Amino acid sequence: MSNKQLFIYNSLTSKKEKFVPINPPFVGLYVCGPTVYSEAHLGNVRTFLTFDIVYRYLTHLNYKVRYVRNITDVGHLVDDVDFGEDKIEKRARLEKIEPMEIVQKYTNSFHFTTQLFNLKNPDIEPSATGHIIEQIEMVQKIITHGYGYEINGSVYFDVKKYAEKFNYGELSGRKLDELLEQTRENLEGGEEKRFFADFAIWKKASPETIMKWNSPWGTGVPGWHLECSAMSTKYLGQQFDIHGGGMDLKFPHHECEIAQSVGSGSPSPVKYWMHGNMLTVNGSKMSKSLGNSFLPLELISGSHPLLEKGYDPMTVRFFFLQAQYRSTVDFSNEALQASEKGLKRLMSGIKLLENIKPSYSTSINLTSIIENCYSSMNDDFNTPITIAHLFDGLKQINLLNEGKETITINDLKTLKNHYSTFIFEILGLMPEKETSNPELLNETLNIILSLRKKAKENKDYSTSDFIRDELSKINITLKDNKDGTTWKIEN
Ligand code: AMP
Ligand code: ZN
Repeated sequence: MSNKQLFIYNSLTSKKEKFVPINPPFVGLYVCGPTVYSEAHLGNVRTFLTFDIVYRYLTHLNYKVRYVRNITDVGHLVDDVDFGEDKIEKRARLEKIEPMEIVQKYTNSFHFTTQLFNLKNPDIEPSATGHIIEQIEMVQKIITHGYGYEINGSVYFDVKKYAEKFNYGELSGRKLDELLEQTRENLEGGEEKRFFADFAIWKKASPETIMKWNSPWGTGVPGWHLECSAMSTKYLGQQFDIHGGGMDLKFPHHECEIAQSVGSGSPSPVKYWMHGNMLTVNGSKMSKSLGNSFLPLELISGSHPLLEKGYDPMTVRFFFLQAQYRSTVDFSNEALQASEKGLKRLMSGIKLLENIKPSYSTSINLTSIIENCYSSMNDDFNTPITIAHLFDGLKQINLLNEGKETITINDLKTLKNHYSTFIFEILGLMPEKETSNPELLNETLNIILSLRKKAKENKDYSTSDFIRDELSKINITLKDNKDGTTWKIEN
């Protein structure tokens, strides 16, 4: 297949770049996973879906991908700052259970959500609490390289010193002097720091803290940004191919990840940084704190006030894929309902493939149907354009079905394979569930059998035979006996 060169928009250079893995055919992909203190909302699902597509497509292109998506179960403090309570411990206090019960409960719930939306499992799902030693070692390295300092049992990253030699802000484009303005009001509790932009890599634990560990600096917890640096290095090496996450993580989280790696003596860790854009509601980011978020189950049942009705998870998957991952998506009932219709159209379109009779020649342009889909996916995973191409191809399928175009048996096989690869394997949409409703089937057959009985009474044997023969074609056999007619589904 030609036109298979993949281009990825690299947030580090703000350009679409040719994708060339560091060590082909292997690809290291790291995605910042959920903080498991509450259920994942639909905005979170969008970001994880973005990287599900990246994983699926790279795998389809025959790369040997190692996909690491972590679980943040300690160190992420309320309001994403350097002081105050841990999100998980706060929730544990509210629910009056152990922090590790909170972690288990919301990790289970996250896995349920990923199944619901047909997101592939990562190859490794490491947790922050499972990698405390690696994190302590990284803090030590940062101190040894002169970019960390200890104060009262906490260790901070020395951004000012780092910025003398390296480009702090290379990913987010933030400038230190602008940051001063932006963070001035956030200095509360940060008086231990030498410089306002310094960030905690190890935090001394307060007496109330439940999850804490011994370290060379006393009892404490790792800083939020540290886990991703430590775990990505451990499983993907000092330099790896792709690091992903939502746009809101670019700063400070990802900027700090770069600084931590470089500050511990490694090269810049990531070749391609990818950031997914936000799901918004009336233009504002969907987030728990704004109260405009809804949960997967509310979506399915339609129980949230923002929802006019319930939606199938595949409708939502399709809805997200109808936008490029770097654009925002604004939630609306109308848009979801349009996606519902679109997905139905696509699924019933591909069912037509089963009815097409092969011919001696192919009159449609099969190559362009296939190549178009690859070129849009190769253009920074452009799923909306790919979907548009799949719909264009459906027009050809309709013409084939009506006998207005022709296709050979081999080309028909290729066409079927193309559609199932793109729809099920790459876009990860699942076929509609067959409705198995035994009562409904029973009632329907009773109606059909009474019509047949009437036909027989009227000596209309051609109708009664027609009914029996047509049912037999769909594996339902009828048996006439003196008490009437019985039916059976043959396997
Ligand atoms: P969290 O569990 O808060 O650490 O977030 C998990 C992921 O969801 C991160 O990559 C966030 O960037 C992403 N995220 C949070 N809110 C949204 C949103 N409204 N739309 C898209 N992604 C989001
Ligand atoms: Zn992270």
